[in-house]
Amino acid sequence: MSSEYKRVLLKISGEALAGKQGFGIDPETVEWVAEEIKNAIEKHNVSVSLVIGGGNFMRGAQVSKQGIERTTADYMGMMSTVINALGFQDMMEKKGVPTRVLSAIKMEQLCEQYIRRRAMRHIEKGRVVIFAGGTGNPYFSTDTAAVLRAVEVNADVIMKATKVNGIYDKDPEKCADANFLETVSYDDALEDNIKVMDHTAIALAKENELPIKVFALMEKGNFDKVLAGVEGIGSTVKKS
Ligand code: UDP
Repeated sequence: MSSEYKRVLLKISGEALAGKQGFGIDPETVEWVAEEIKNAIEKHNVSVSLVIGGGNFMRGAQVSKQGIERTTADYMGMMSTVINALGFQDMMEKKGVPTRVLSAIKMEQLCEQYIRRRAMRHIEKGRVVIFAGGTGNPYFSTDTAAVLRAVEVNADVIMKATKVNGIYDKDPEKCADANFLETVSYDDALEDNIKVMDHTAIALAKENELPIKVFALMEKGNFDKVLAGVEGIGSTVKKS
């Protein structure tokens, strides 16, 4: 089966890998996600690259409120993304999927350094590239890093994995009357009540007309469905 997408950048939050414990890495959850991705790649013959967050270990903005200097806290956050990337790489490779971790912060004993041309080469060779280290700069998020990398490697779409199935006009976990929105314009996505990504990430996507698909990754078969374009699965932010 073919997907309307050829090259996808999938953004997974660190939190998603923490499983029920809510902190750190739950290997069972990582394995589950790796299996979902592997199956979908094989079925749709689509190129998938990943950005994994680091919020399961460290969020700079939060930790800086507790006394650690913001830039240091942010670097700690970026390092958390490398921990997640290495764990994810291991699970993917155990399943026979060739991967490369490319970090924006040099860590040559652990992974390759992010160089765009190198990333492109890996992608062309059919490897799953896991972009780690965020943008390499404090004061940014891994959502922004994901949009940046998606634009850099000419992805057709950025897919943001969330807990809920897409975008709502209010927080669906708090408001029973929240309405599901199938498509949203970039300007609407920038509204504060609609939480898709931070403003920097959305602005970068808007400027480059990169569609953002928001969907619930943690439901079995959903990544496959979203690639297949099944109606009602996920919401899309795109040019109106
Ligand atoms: N971070 C950063 N620059 C980047 C990406 C991430 O400083 O380009 C830091 C920031 O402190 C952030 C943390 O890394 O809070 C973890 O990333 P994020 O909060 O985006 O992870 P997620 O919520 O997706 O798990």
